[in-house]
Parts: sequence; structure tokens; C-alpha cells
Amino acid sequence: MATRNLPGLLKTLNPFRYPSRARAFNSLVSEHTTKWMQDMSKKSPMELINEVPPIKVEGRIVACEGASNPALGHPIEFICLDLETPAVCKYCGLRYVQDHHHH
Ligand SMILES: [Zn+2]
Repeated sequence: MATRNLPGLLKTLNPFRYPSRARAFNSLVSEHTTKWMQDMSKKSPMELINEVPPIKVEGRIVACEGASNPALGHPIEFICLDLETPAVCKYCGLRYVQDHHHH
């Protein structure tokens, strides 16, 4: 009695019952990833960060933590703004320039 029911039970639990559906899902993911990669290749991350104007800072030292959201930021980086050219954060690429007051 028990052995006669066993084949039906195995068939129900067979994880490979829908191989075609699993394959379709995988191709969907790879197509989405390819599309995302193509979008990124249009502009490199450095080109995108160069479109952000330098952040004006009062004072000689700026503490950069990346994004305002701590989850997206990086370890705090102190950047010296003694130079006339904008200083670039080595972590996130944001540019800072000293805001001189010549009034
Ligand atoms: Zn930074």
C-alpha cells in the first residue's frame, strides 16, 4: 500500500517539474542585466560625477562622508582645501572648493 503511493508523492515534490519556467526566468534576468550594463556604458561614473559642480565650503578643511544618507556614504574623509583647484574626495569623487570671501 505504502510503496504504491510513493511514486505519486515523489512526482508532486519534484523540484524539476517546471524546468522551462526556471529557464525563462534566468533569461529575463540576464536580459535586464545586459540592458543595465548598456545604460551604464553611455556615461562612465567619472563623467557623471564631473557634472556635479564643486561644493563650496567655508574654511580650509571639509569632512566628507559621501551621501547625506549614512547607508550610502563612506568612512569620514577630511579634505584640505588649501589649493585653488577643487579637491576631490578619494572615496566618492565629490569635489570641494574653498569659498573665499573677498568682500
Ligand atoms: Zn566623499
